Order: sequence, then C-alpha cells, then structure tokens
Amino acid sequence: MRLPAASLLCLLVAACGTTYEVPVAGGAAPGSTVPAVAGANRTARDFGRVVSRVEPAAEAFCHEEVPSAPPAYCDFRVLLDTDPRMPPNAFQTRGEDGRPVIVVGSRLLAEMQSDDELAFVLSHEMSHQIAGHIGKQEQQQVLGALIMGGLVAAAGNGYGGVASQDAIERAMDVGAYVGARAYSQSYEFEADTLGTYIAARAGYSPERGADIFGRPALASPGGPAILASHPASAQRQAVVAQVAAEVRRQQALGLVPDPSNVGRG
Ligand SMILES: [Zn+2]
Repeated sequence: MRLPAASLLCLLVAACGTTYEVPVAGGAAPGSTVPAVAGANRTARDFGRVVSRVEPAAEAFCHEEVPSAPPAYCDFRVLLDTDPRMPPNAFQTRGEDGRPVIVVGSRLLAEMQSDDELAFVLSHEMSHQIAGHIGKQEQQQVLGALIMGGLVAAAGNGYGGVASQDAIERAMDVGAYVGARAYSQSYEFEADTLGTYIAARAGYSPERGADIFGRPALASPGGPAILASHPASAQRQAVVAQVAAEVRRQQALGLVPDPSNVGRG
C-alpha cells in the first residue's frame, strides 16, 4: 500500500531544486483595500507583493480559527516553483518542520490575470491547512485502505482459499484512493469559503479572484488540482459571491469579517 499522498508531495518539494522562498515584507494593514493590478501574466514580483499581504492575513485568521494550534501550524511558507515541468498548479503540503507549505507553479502564475486571482488561490490553499484537510484526508485514506483490504482478505480468493498479498494490496490502493476523495468536493467548498474571508481581509476582491475558475486554459480535463476533480466552476463562483456578500455585510457593520459573525447584526 502506498501511503500517503502528502508524504510523497513532501518528497517532491524537498527534491525540487527550483523552488525558492519568497521574502515576505511587512504587508499593509489587514482590512485596507489594494488598488486592482490587472493584466495578463503575473510575475515573481507580483507574487512577492501578494504573498506579503495574504500571508499575515491568513496567519492571523488561522490563529483565530484554530486557537489551540501550535505556533508552527499557522506559520505558512509560500514557495514559487519555477520548474517548467510542473503543471499549472498550486497545492498545500507540510514541511518536515511541521510548517504548512504552499507551492504555486510559475505556469499557473502566468495564467493569472490579476492580483485578486493569485490572492484567492493562496487563500484557498491556506484554508486547506486551517481546516485540517490533509490530516482528515490521510485518515480517510488509511480507513479506506483498511476497509477495502479487509474486505478482499475476508473474501479470500473466491475458491475458499486465501486472497493473495497482491490482491489485498491492490484493494488497499483502491480504498486509499476512494477514501481520499470521499469528501474532496466539500473540502473544496470549505476552502473556497474560508479563502474568501482571507482574501477579503488581505484587501483583495474574492469575486474577481474566483474569475480564475472560468479560465479556459485551466479548466481542461487533467488541469490543475485547484480546478480538477473539483466542483463545477459556476458553482464555486456562486459560493464565493455568496460568502463575499456576507463579508461585505460584516464590514459595513464595522466587524472584522469572520465565519463566526455570520448572522450577527
Ligand atoms: Zn483545493
């Protein structure tokens, strides 16, 4: 049984010599808005600018949402992977020091048409960490593997004998795959929801950010993980629009936008 996807990603990150850590300068005050910087092809310079605003907003949000988390849990590292072989993609993983690592591929960066889109992708990936999705997915993977492996072992070889080790391992692989994907769609909506709060608190427009879901170059099958095996783009944009309206309502009341303020007047 191959376990678990996250540790594989860690190896990939560690093995990749072309990633570099973007220096994070002091960002602007959370809640202030930034002028829209639009135009095709975000660059490494744009990346540093957006990270310097989103990272502190996400860190503060993370500590609020997960007050019991150890300091490293919310201490994000954000990397730009300039390896041209990396598909246009972004993902979240964990470093060996326990810190969450967000990796954005430069090919995905080049597809982005605005700082809002980059801010939303970063906020979305950071939200997977804040919501603890990697840990939950690993548990589901292990559980799925054990259930499937156990079923095949119990069923034997169909002739009253024992199932081969190979058959059990294949079943465990299938179980791990199914287990990891069992809740992936609800995780994506959750990451979009929390990401909307983070992007707004960093001063970006989450709705303009969600325009990235409609980018045809990225919406093809086998496209980036931020889009592939994900709910339909229109559905995700609708969720972001709904949450962004709630964020604006809270801001108008002078509240710091937070999911716990939903419905509070
Ligand atoms: Zn996601």
